[in-house]
Formats: sequence, structure tokens, C-alpha cells
Amino acid sequence: MKRTGVAVLGASGSIGRSTAAELAAMQNEFSVVGLVGRNGVQELAQQSAQLHSAQVITTDPAMLGELQRLAPSGVRCLAGMDAVMALVTSPEVDVVLCAISGVTGVEPVLAALRAGKRVALASKEVLVMAGDLVMPVARTSKGGMIPVDSEHSGLFQCLAGRRPDEVADLVLTGSGGPFLHWEKERIARASVADALKHPTWSMGGKITIDSASLMNKALEVIEAHHLFGVPGERIKVLINPQSIVHALIELVDGTLLGQFSTPSMRLAIRYALTYPARQDGDVKKLDLAALGKLDFYAPDLERFPALTYAYESLRAGGTMPAVLNAANDVAVERFRSGGIPFARIWEIVERTMSAHTPVPVSALDELKAVDRWAREYARTL
Ligand code: MG
Repeated sequence: MKRTGVAVLGASGSIGRSTAAELAAMQNEFSVVGLVGRNGVQELAQQSAQLHSAQVITTDPAMLGELQRLAPSGVRCLAGMDAVMALVTSPEVDVVLCAISGVTGVEPVLAALRAGKRVALASKEVLVMAGDLVMPVARTSKGGMIPVDSEHSGLFQCLAGRRPDEVADLVLTGSGGPFLHWEKERIARASVADALKHPTWSMGGKITIDSASLMNKALEVIEAHHLFGVPGERIKVLINPQSIVHALIELVDGTLLGQFSTPSMRLAIRYALTYPARQDGDVKKLDLAALGKLDFYAPDLERFPALTYAYESLRAGGTMPAVLNAANDVAVERFRSGGIPFARIWEIVERTMSAHTPVPVSALDELKAVDRWAREYARTL
């Protein structure tokens, strides 16, 4: 049987490394056609040896020499976005897993969808920024789009086989982050080290800070709106500090269906790769009896205003969610470099959104211009 050809974009990041581990365990079913990263060329070289990837690509041409020096002989080393676009549309590729952060992921995702590939999407920015451009293409693409974000994978699994008129609300869960039980004043003064101590998930630095501010959940509300075509008012957020329930859907008769599992990105990655089949991996099975109980809270919008901005950005529509995303990126960078206190992340997002008049999204270039404006503006605050 022909193996499924896979391209991994963002292979050297946190999701990329988990994807590599999954692919290494499923080499009979999947062949790795190409791995794409930016600066993590050592990781890329190691993965290409382990996964027998035909090619490796760095999006930064300045890293090509280093990549060539480190990669095993016989592996094609390439650089730049043209090489990425050729990879994602190549006939050998069936599935493109995109975990590239930021706006860089949008063009390869669109190209892969247009070429009929399945896109396993881990980069939430692709939908937060460009959902209005990407989803119409995804809905008519032969390959379709499967979410890799754990909550959206959970929703996707709960929604499978349901008619839209059966579903009342979507519920995304979140751990609440390290500041769940902190007083407002203490949160305002939290250090970078405090914000990086995530209670349940092991992830990259930016997303861990976003989890502490609940901005990650805000981005996920926007992501869910695009993926499932549901308005913001019908997307709820529920805190489950144990990170065992990843998503729930509420049906019109009041029935709740949920997706429960050990918090591991590897489950969502594996499911997106093997869909519609399921395969046993080495993720620990959930023992609810050993766990004993699960806690749930409503998110506190007074201490964590991020969700308010997500709903506002969806009501405003058009380019506003892209502004939220760009302003948050800058604010998190400034916080991580010690430039601003934690609570100013929200303030910068709010003020950048207030300074923007949204317009409908019609082209990627327009979005890039708005993204640049929002970044520049957020730096001045
Ligand atoms: Mg998530």
C-alpha cells in the first residue's frame, strides 16, 4: 500500500517535534516528503535523518549553509518560500501539517488547499488573521482542513456526524493558566518566569504566556468561529484546571457531548494525520477513577479581559481579529523582554484595537499591511 506523503511546516518548534515523534512511530504508513523550519536547523537535520525525509527547507536563506553542513548526505537542502510552496503542492504530498507561527503560514496553507491536499492546521494565526480568506478555500478543497489545536480537535470530534441544526453552542475549555487563583494586583505584577509556569500543558514560550493571559483562549474563540462557521455568541469558554475535558458541544435539547483525554498534543496530531481512522499511540490512557474529580469554573473577565476582546473583534469583523493578534504578539514580546508589566499586554491589545477601523478582508496583501500597522502601533504604546 502506498504510504501517505507528509510535509511538516514548523518542524523544529514544539508542535513540530511532537509531530516528528508521531511520524517516527508510524513510518509504515507515512513517508515524510519534506520538513520546513527557520532557525532550528540542527533539529531539522536530526529529524531528516530519523524520518528519512527527502528534503529539508529553511525559510531563512541565511541558514542554508548551516543546514547543508548538518543534514545527512542525500537529503536535499533548500531555502526560501518558493521551495515551501513547491513542497506543499508537490504530487508526493497528501497531508500538510502547518505549525508555522504568524502570517508566514497563510500562503502555503492556501496553496496546499488549492492543490487538494489535506491541511492539518496547528497555526491558529492562519485562521485568526485570514480565516475569511482561508475557509472558503478549505470548504471546497478535496483534502479539507483538520484542526490540530487540542480544543478544536475535540470540537471536530464531537461535531462529527452532527447536523448543524442539532448544535446550540460550542464550548472550548482552558486550564485557566498559572494565574487562575491569583488576585488582580498580583497578576499585574507577574514575572516572565511566573507566566511560563503552565500547570498542565508543555508548549512553546509565546503560547504559554498567551495561556497565562487567556489570550490563547481568545485566539481560539476566533479560530473556532472560522473553522466551524459558528458566530461568537455561540462559542463559550469553560475553565477546567485539570485539562482533561478539551471541548464540549451543547445540543439543542441540552445534551452535552465532550472530548476527554490526557493533555497531550500528540493525540490531536495523530488524529489529524490518520483521520478518519484512529490508531493507538503511546499517550497515557485516561483513568478517571484515579483522577477522582474534575473542576469547572466560568472564566473571570474582570481579572482576564482577553476573551472580551475576542468577542469584540468578531463583532467588528474584517481586519479586527488580525489587529488583536498582531498587537498581542508585540505585547508578549515586550513583556518577555522585560519592557512592560504583565497587565499591559491586555491594555496594548485593547488600545490597538480601539485605534483601528476594520475593513472586510479581501486580499492577503491588505491583511499584511494591517498586520504591519498594528505591530508598529503596538510598539509605540
Ligand atoms: Mg489549544
